[in-house]
Amino acid sequence: MRINRWDRERILVTGGAGFLGSHLCERLLEDNAYVICLDNYFTGQRRNIFHLIDNKYFELIRHDIVNPIFLEVDKIYHLACPASPIHYQYNPVKTIKTNVMGSINMLGLAKRVKARILQASTSEIYGDPEVHPQPESYWGNVNPIGPRSCYDEGKRCAETLFFDYHRQNHVAIKVVRIFNTYGPRMHPDDGRVVSSFIIQALLGEPITIFGEGEQTRSFCYVDDMIEGIIKMMETPDNITGPINLGNPEETRIIDLANMILRLTGSDSEIRFMPLPKDDPQKRRPDITKAKQILNWEPRISLEDGLKETIKYFKKIIEEK
Ligand code: NAD
Ligand code: UDP
Repeated sequence: MRINRWDRERILVTGGAGFLGSHLCERLLEDNAYVICLDNYFTGQRRNIFHLIDNKYFELIRHDIVNPIFLEVDKIYHLACPASPIHYQYNPVKTIKTNVMGSINMLGLAKRVKARILQASTSEIYGDPEVHPQPESYWGNVNPIGPRSCYDEGKRCAETLFFDYHRQNHVAIKVVRIFNTYGPRMHPDDGRVVSSFIIQALLGEPITIFGEGEQTRSFCYVDDMIEGIIKMMETPDNITGPINLGNPEETRIIDLANMILRLTGSDSEIRFMPLPKDDPQKRRPDITKAKQILNWEPRISLEDGLKETIKYFKKIIEEK
Protein backbone atom coordinates (compact mmCIF):
# COMPACT_ATOMS: atom_id res chain seq x y z
CA MET A 1 0.00 0.00 0.00
CA ARG A 2 1.26 3.50 -0.88
CA ILE A 3 1.17 6.11 1.84
CA ASN A 4 1.24 9.89 1.63
CA ARG A 5 3.10 12.34 3.83
CA TRP A 6 0.32 12.15 6.40
CA ASP A 7 0.58 8.37 6.52
CA ARG A 8 -3.05 8.04 5.52
CA GLU A 9 -4.66 5.86 2.88
CA ARG A 10 -5.63 7.91 -0.18
CA ILE A 11 -9.19 7.18 -1.13
CA LEU A 12 -10.96 8.47 -4.21
CA VAL A 13 -14.75 8.82 -4.05
CA THR A 14 -16.29 9.47 -7.48
CA GLY A 15 -19.68 11.13 -7.14
CA GLY A 16 -18.49 12.31 -3.72
CA ALA A 17 -20.72 15.40 -3.66
CA GLY A 18 -23.86 13.32 -4.14
CA PHE A 19 -26.20 11.86 -1.55
CA LEU A 20 -24.36 8.61 -0.75
CA GLY A 21 -20.93 9.96 -1.76
CA SER A 22 -21.01 12.82 0.73
CA HIS A 23 -21.90 10.49 3.62
CA LEU A 24 -19.12 8.16 2.51
CA CYS A 25 -16.51 10.98 2.36
CA GLU A 26 -17.53 12.08 5.86
CA ARG A 27 -17.27 8.58 7.28
CA LEU A 28 -13.89 7.85 5.59
CA LEU A 29 -12.46 11.07 7.06
CA GLU A 30 -13.67 9.96 10.49
CA ASP A 31 -11.85 6.67 9.84
CA ASN A 32 -8.59 8.62 9.20
CA ALA A 33 -8.37 8.41 5.41
CA TYR A 34 -7.15 11.10 3.03
CA VAL A 35 -10.21 11.62 0.86
CA ILE A 36 -10.31 12.90 -2.71
CA CYS A 37 -13.85 13.75 -3.71
CA LEU A 38 -14.43 13.91 -7.46
CA ASP A 39 -17.68 15.20 -8.95
CA ASN A 40 -19.05 17.11 -11.93
CA TYR A 41 -22.01 18.43 -9.85
CA PHE A 42 -24.61 17.08 -12.25
CA THR A 43 -26.79 15.91 -9.37
CA GLY A 44 -24.34 16.49 -6.53
CA GLN A 45 -24.45 19.66 -4.47
CA ARG A 46 -21.65 21.68 -2.93
CA ARG A 47 -23.74 22.08 0.21
CA ASN A 48 -23.40 18.29 0.80
CA ILE A 49 -19.66 18.59 1.34
CA PHE A 50 -19.34 22.22 2.42
CA HIS A 51 -18.64 21.20 6.01
CA LEU A 52 -15.67 19.08 4.88
CA ILE A 53 -13.87 21.67 2.78
CA ASP A 54 -11.68 23.03 5.59
CA ASN A 55 -10.51 19.56 6.56
CA LYS A 56 -6.84 19.28 5.53
CA TYR A 57 -7.31 15.62 4.68
CA PHE A 58 -10.10 16.41 2.19
CA GLU A 59 -9.56 17.38 -1.44
CA LEU A 60 -12.15 18.33 -4.02
CA ILE A 61 -11.85 17.86 -7.79
CA ARG A 62 -14.40 19.07 -10.33
CA HIS A 63 -14.15 16.51 -13.11
CA ASP A 64 -16.36 14.49 -15.43
CA ILE A 65 -15.41 10.79 -15.34
CA VAL A 66 -16.28 10.38 -19.00
CA ASN A 67 -12.79 11.89 -19.44
CA PRO A 68 -9.69 10.11 -18.08
CA ILE A 69 -7.95 11.41 -14.98
CA PHE A 70 -4.56 10.51 -13.51
CA LEU A 71 -4.26 10.35 -9.73
CA GLU A 72 -2.31 8.36 -7.15
CA VAL A 73 -4.74 6.55 -4.87
CA ASP A 74 -5.00 3.32 -2.89
CA LYS A 75 -8.74 2.74 -3.09
CA ILE A 76 -11.57 3.94 -5.33
CA TYR A 77 -15.23 4.03 -4.37
CA HIS A 78 -16.91 4.45 -7.76
CA LEU A 79 -20.30 6.12 -7.19
CA ALA A 80 -20.49 8.73 -9.95
CA CYS A 81 -23.77 8.31 -11.84
CA PRO A 82 -27.15 10.01 -11.53
CA ALA A 83 -29.38 7.67 -9.54
CA SER A 84 -32.93 8.96 -9.72
CA PRO A 85 -35.13 8.16 -12.76
CA ILE A 86 -35.74 11.88 -13.47
CA HIS A 87 -32.03 12.64 -13.50
CA TYR A 88 -30.76 9.59 -15.37
CA GLN A 89 -33.46 9.94 -18.03
CA TYR A 90 -32.72 13.66 -18.52
CA ASN A 91 -29.79 12.83 -20.82
CA PRO A 92 -29.86 9.04 -21.35
CA VAL A 93 -26.88 8.96 -23.70
CA LYS A 94 -24.80 10.76 -21.08
CA THR A 95 -25.98 8.27 -18.45
CA ILE A 96 -24.66 5.40 -20.58
CA LYS A 97 -21.39 7.25 -21.22
CA THR A 98 -20.97 7.84 -17.49
CA ASN A 99 -21.55 4.17 -16.74
CA VAL A 100 -19.48 2.70 -19.54
CA MET A 101 -16.74 5.23 -20.37
CA GLY A 102 -16.63 6.44 -16.77
CA SER A 103 -16.18 2.89 -15.47
CA ILE A 104 -13.49 2.15 -18.08
CA ASN A 105 -11.61 5.28 -17.00
CA MET A 106 -11.86 4.40 -13.30
CA LEU A 107 -10.90 0.75 -13.91
CA GLY A 108 -7.96 1.91 -16.03
CA LEU A 109 -6.85 4.13 -13.17
CA ALA A 110 -7.23 1.26 -10.68
CA LYS A 111 -5.20 -1.01 -12.97
CA ARG A 112 -2.41 1.56 -13.40
CA VAL A 113 -1.95 2.43 -9.73
CA LYS A 114 -2.99 -1.04 -8.42
CA ALA A 115 -5.84 0.42 -6.41
CA ARG A 116 -8.76 -1.60 -5.10
CA ILE A 117 -12.02 -0.41 -6.69
CA LEU A 118 -15.64 -0.74 -5.56
CA GLN A 119 -18.58 -0.36 -7.92
CA ALA A 120 -21.86 1.11 -6.63
CA SER A 121 -24.12 -1.14 -8.65
CA THR A 122 -27.85 -1.34 -8.19
CA SER A 123 -30.93 -3.48 -7.67
CA GLU A 124 -31.98 -2.20 -11.13
CA ILE A 125 -29.70 -4.99 -12.42
CA TYR A 126 -32.70 -7.25 -11.63
CA GLY A 127 -35.16 -5.05 -13.61
CA ASP A 128 -38.79 -5.98 -12.94
CA PRO A 129 -37.88 -9.20 -11.13
CA GLU A 130 -39.62 -12.54 -11.59
CA VAL A 131 -37.73 -13.98 -8.61
CA HIS A 132 -38.59 -12.62 -5.18
CA PRO A 133 -36.71 -11.67 -3.04
CA GLN A 134 -33.75 -11.17 -5.36
CA PRO A 135 -30.56 -13.19 -4.69
CA GLU A 136 -27.28 -12.27 -6.41
CA SER A 137 -27.55 -15.41 -8.56
CA TYR A 138 -30.67 -14.05 -10.33
CA TRP A 139 -29.81 -12.62 -13.77
CA GLY A 140 -32.76 -10.26 -13.93
CA ASN A 141 -35.64 -9.26 -16.18
CA VAL A 142 -34.51 -6.04 -17.86
CA ASN A 143 -35.96 -4.22 -20.86
CA PRO A 144 -32.95 -3.29 -23.05
CA ILE A 145 -34.79 -0.54 -25.02
CA GLY A 146 -37.05 1.21 -22.50
CA PRO A 147 -36.72 4.58 -20.74
CA ARG A 148 -34.94 3.01 -17.73
CA SER A 149 -32.51 1.02 -19.90
CA CYS A 150 -29.81 3.72 -20.05
CA TYR A 151 -29.37 3.23 -16.31
CA ASP A 152 -30.18 -0.49 -15.96
CA GLU A 153 -28.14 -1.65 -18.94
CA GLY A 154 -25.44 0.94 -18.24
CA LYS A 155 -25.01 -0.48 -14.74
CA ARG A 156 -25.11 -4.05 -16.07
CA CYS A 157 -22.37 -3.23 -18.57
CA ALA A 158 -20.36 -1.57 -15.79
CA GLU A 159 -20.55 -4.82 -13.78
CA THR A 160 -19.35 -6.73 -16.86
CA LEU A 161 -16.42 -4.32 -17.20
CA PHE A 162 -15.51 -4.75 -13.53
CA PHE A 163 -15.42 -8.55 -13.85
CA ASP A 164 -13.50 -8.44 -17.15
CA TYR A 165 -10.86 -6.10 -15.70
CA HIS A 166 -10.63 -8.49 -12.76
CA ARG A 167 -10.24 -11.62 -14.93
CA GLN A 168 -8.07 -10.03 -17.61
CA ASN A 169 -5.96 -7.54 -15.62
CA HIS A 170 -6.26 -8.83 -12.03
CA VAL A 171 -7.77 -5.58 -10.79
CA ALA A 172 -9.02 -6.01 -7.20
CA ILE A 173 -12.75 -5.35 -7.56
CA LYS A 174 -15.73 -5.20 -5.21
CA VAL A 175 -19.28 -4.96 -6.55
CA VAL A 176 -22.22 -4.05 -4.30
CA ARG A 177 -25.81 -3.98 -5.56
CA ILE A 178 -27.48 -1.17 -3.67
CA PHE A 179 -31.25 -1.29 -3.07
CA ASN A 180 -33.32 1.89 -2.51
CA THR A 181 -31.50 4.01 0.05
CA TYR A 182 -32.76 7.21 1.64
CA GLY A 183 -31.77 9.81 4.20
CA PRO A 184 -30.55 13.39 4.67
CA ARG A 185 -28.88 15.01 1.62
CA MET A 186 -31.08 13.33 -0.96
CA HIS A 187 -31.56 15.86 -3.73
CA PRO A 188 -34.84 17.69 -3.02
CA ASP A 189 -35.83 17.73 -6.71
CA ASP A 190 -34.81 14.24 -7.75
CA GLY A 191 -38.34 12.83 -7.74
CA ARG A 192 -37.37 9.78 -5.71
CA VAL A 193 -40.24 8.50 -3.66
CA VAL A 194 -39.00 9.21 -0.12
CA SER A 195 -37.80 12.78 -0.77
CA SER A 196 -40.86 13.59 -2.93
CA PHE A 197 -43.41 12.35 -0.39
CA ILE A 198 -41.69 14.12 2.54
CA ILE A 199 -41.47 17.44 0.72
CA GLN A 200 -45.07 17.16 -0.51
CA ALA A 201 -46.25 16.34 3.03
CA LEU A 202 -44.31 19.21 4.61
CA LEU A 203 -45.60 21.72 2.04
CA GLY A 204 -49.19 20.45 2.29
CA GLU A 205 -49.16 19.50 -1.40
CA PRO A 206 -50.81 16.32 -2.76
CA ILE A 207 -48.82 13.11 -2.29
CA THR A 208 -48.29 11.77 -5.82
CA ILE A 209 -48.63 7.98 -5.86
CA PHE A 210 -47.83 6.42 -9.21
CA GLY A 211 -50.22 3.57 -10.01
CA GLU A 212 -52.27 2.11 -7.15
CA GLY A 213 -49.36 2.26 -4.71
CA GLU A 214 -49.35 -1.55 -4.48
CA GLN A 215 -45.80 -1.76 -5.85
CA THR A 216 -43.15 -2.41 -3.21
CA ARG A 217 -39.66 -1.22 -2.44
CA SER A 218 -37.33 -2.02 0.48
CA PHE A 219 -35.84 1.12 1.99
CA CYS A 220 -32.43 1.24 3.67
CA TYR A 221 -31.27 4.18 5.78
CA VAL A 222 -28.07 5.82 4.54
CA ASP A 223 -25.95 5.14 7.67
CA ASP A 224 -26.62 1.40 7.38
CA MET A 225 -25.76 1.49 3.67
CA ILE A 226 -22.45 3.32 4.20
CA GLU A 227 -21.47 0.77 6.86
CA GLY A 228 -22.16 -2.08 4.39
CA ILE A 229 -20.24 -0.43 1.55
CA ILE A 230 -17.15 0.14 3.72
CA LYS A 231 -17.30 -3.42 5.11
CA MET A 232 -17.33 -4.74 1.54
CA MET A 233 -14.31 -2.62 0.56
CA GLU A 234 -12.38 -4.04 3.53
CA THR A 235 -12.94 -7.74 2.62
CA PRO A 236 -9.97 -9.83 1.38
CA ASP A 237 -9.07 -9.66 -2.34
CA ASN A 238 -10.73 -12.98 -3.20
CA ILE A 239 -14.15 -11.51 -2.37
CA THR A 240 -15.43 -9.66 -5.40
CA GLY A 241 -19.21 -9.82 -4.98
CA PRO A 242 -21.65 -8.97 -6.36
CA ILE A 243 -23.27 -8.59 -2.96
CA ASN A 244 -26.73 -7.17 -2.31
CA LEU A 245 -26.91 -4.33 0.21
CA GLY A 246 -30.33 -3.16 1.30
CA ASN A 247 -33.03 -3.50 3.89
CA PRO A 248 -35.10 -6.68 3.48
CA GLU A 249 -38.15 -5.03 5.07
CA GLU A 250 -40.54 -4.59 2.13
CA THR A 251 -43.01 -1.68 2.05
CA ARG A 252 -45.89 -0.88 -0.31
CA ILE A 253 -45.68 2.65 -1.69
CA ILE A 254 -49.17 3.41 -0.34
CA ASP A 255 -48.01 2.39 3.16
CA LEU A 256 -44.93 4.59 2.82
CA ALA A 257 -47.19 7.53 1.93
CA ASN A 258 -49.40 6.95 4.97
CA MET A 259 -46.39 6.57 7.27
CA ILE A 260 -44.93 9.87 6.05
CA LEU A 261 -48.30 11.60 6.49
CA ARG A 262 -48.46 10.31 10.08
CA LEU A 263 -44.85 11.24 10.95
CA THR A 264 -45.12 14.76 9.50
CA GLY A 265 -48.64 15.34 10.90
CA SER A 266 -49.57 16.54 7.41
CA ASP A 267 -53.12 16.62 6.03
CA SER A 268 -51.98 16.44 2.37
CA GLU A 269 -54.39 14.50 0.15
CA ILE A 270 -53.19 11.41 -1.76
CA ARG A 271 -53.34 11.78 -5.55
CA PHE A 272 -53.06 8.70 -7.80
CA MET A 273 -51.12 9.27 -11.06
CA PRO A 274 -50.22 7.00 -14.01
CA LEU A 275 -47.50 4.43 -13.35
CA PRO A 276 -44.28 5.17 -15.32
CA LYS A 277 -43.27 2.63 -17.99
CA ASP A 278 -41.21 -0.35 -16.77
CA ASP A 279 -41.68 0.62 -13.10
CA PRO A 280 -40.71 -2.56 -11.18
CA GLN A 281 -43.66 -4.07 -9.27
CA LYS A 282 -41.68 -5.40 -6.37
CA ARG A 283 -38.19 -5.25 -5.00
CA ARG A 284 -36.62 -6.79 -1.93
CA PRO A 285 -33.02 -7.90 -1.42
CA ASP A 286 -31.98 -11.34 -0.30
CA ILE A 287 -29.13 -10.31 2.01
CA THR A 288 -28.00 -13.78 3.09
CA LYS A 289 -24.58 -13.21 1.50
CA ALA A 290 -24.09 -9.80 3.14
CA LYS A 291 -24.95 -11.34 6.51
CA GLN A 292 -22.58 -14.27 6.03
CA ILE A 293 -19.66 -12.57 4.31
CA LEU A 294 -19.79 -9.05 5.78
CA ASN A 295 -21.57 -9.79 9.04
CA TRP A 296 -23.80 -6.89 8.04
CA GLU A 297 -27.48 -6.18 8.20
CA PRO A 298 -29.42 -2.92 8.53
CA ARG A 299 -30.18 -1.73 12.05
CA ILE A 300 -32.22 1.42 11.56
CA SER A 301 -35.99 1.02 11.25
CA LEU A 302 -37.93 2.77 8.49
CA GLU A 303 -39.74 4.90 11.06
CA ASP A 304 -36.51 6.10 12.75
CA GLY A 305 -34.81 6.75 9.41
CA LEU A 306 -37.80 8.68 8.09
CA LYS A 307 -37.82 10.86 11.24
CA GLU A 308 -34.19 11.87 10.59
CA THR A 309 -34.92 12.51 6.91
CA ILE A 310 -37.99 14.61 7.73
CA LYS A 311 -35.86 16.74 10.10
CA TYR A 312 -33.40 17.37 7.26
CA PHE A 313 -36.03 18.40 4.72
CA LYS A 314 -37.78 20.64 7.28
CA LYS A 315 -34.48 22.52 7.64
CA ILE A 316 -34.01 22.78 3.87
CA ILE A 317 -37.52 24.18 3.44
CA GLU A 318 -37.01 26.69 6.27
CA GLU A 319 -33.72 27.88 4.71
CA LYS A 320 -35.44 28.45 1.37
P1 NAD B 1 -26.55 11.15 -6.52
O1 NAD B 1 -27.16 11.54 -7.81
O2 NAD B 1 -26.88 11.94 -5.31
O3 NAD B 1 -24.98 11.05 -6.63
C1 NAD B 1 -24.30 10.79 -7.83
C2 NAD B 1 -23.13 11.75 -7.92
O4 NAD B 1 -22.39 11.46 -9.11
C3 NAD B 1 -23.57 13.21 -8.02
O5 NAD B 1 -22.83 13.98 -7.09
C4 NAD B 1 -23.27 13.59 -9.45
O6 NAD B 1 -23.02 14.96 -9.63
C5 NAD B 1 -22.07 12.71 -9.75
N1 NAD B 1 -21.90 12.44 -11.18
C6 NAD B 1 -22.85 12.03 -12.07
N2 NAD B 1 -22.31 11.88 -13.28
C7 NAD B 1 -20.98 12.19 -13.17
C8 NAD B 1 -19.90 12.24 -14.09
N3 NAD B 1 -20.07 11.94 -15.38
N4 NAD B 1 -18.69 12.62 -13.62
C9 NAD B 1 -18.50 12.94 -12.33
N5 NAD B 1 -19.49 12.91 -11.41
C10 NAD B 1 -20.72 12.54 -11.83
O7 NAD B 1 -26.98 9.61 -6.29
P2 NAD B 1 -26.74 8.65 -5.05
O8 NAD B 1 -28.07 8.21 -4.57
O9 NAD B 1 -25.78 9.22 -4.09
O10 NAD B 1 -26.09 7.39 -5.80
C11 NAD B 1 -24.69 7.17 -5.79
C12 NAD B 1 -24.40 5.87 -6.52
O11 NAD B 1 -25.08 4.78 -5.90
C13 NAD B 1 -24.84 5.88 -7.98
O12 NAD B 1 -23.88 5.21 -8.75
C14 NAD B 1 -26.13 5.10 -7.97
O13 NAD B 1 -26.38 4.47 -9.19
C15 NAD B 1 -25.87 4.10 -6.85
N6 NAD B 1 -27.14 3.65 -6.26
C16 NAD B 1 -27.85 4.46 -5.42
C17 NAD B 1 -29.07 4.01 -4.91
C18 NAD B 1 -29.90 4.86 -3.97
O14 NAD B 1 -30.99 4.43 -3.59
N7 NAD B 1 -29.46 6.02 -3.53
C19 NAD B 1 -29.55 2.75 -5.26
C20 NAD B 1 -28.80 1.97 -6.14
C21 NAD B 1 -27.58 2.42 -6.61
N1 UDP C 1 -43.16 6.80 -6.84
C1 UDP C 1 -44.42 7.33 -6.56
N2 UDP C 1 -44.54 8.69 -6.47
C2 UDP C 1 -43.48 9.54 -6.62
C3 UDP C 1 -42.20 8.98 -6.90
C4 UDP C 1 -42.09 7.61 -7.01
O1 UDP C 1 -45.41 6.60 -6.40
O2 UDP C 1 -43.67 10.76 -6.52
C5 UDP C 1 -43.03 5.33 -6.95
C6 UDP C 1 -42.36 4.88 -8.25
O3 UDP C 1 -43.33 4.70 -9.27
C7 UDP C 1 -41.74 3.56 -7.81
C8 UDP C 1 -41.38 3.78 -6.34
O4 UDP C 1 -42.16 4.90 -5.92
O5 UDP C 1 -42.67 2.51 -7.91
C9 UDP C 1 -39.91 4.09 -6.10
O6 UDP C 1 -39.51 5.14 -6.99
P1 UDP C 1 -38.07 5.80 -6.98
O7 UDP C 1 -38.02 6.69 -8.15
O8 UDP C 1 -37.80 6.38 -5.64
O9 UDP C 1 -37.06 4.57 -7.13
P2 UDP C 1 -36.96 3.32 -8.15
O10 UDP C 1 -38.21 3.22 -8.97
O11 UDP C 1 -35.75 3.62 -8.96
O12 UDP C 1 -36.80 2.17 -7.23
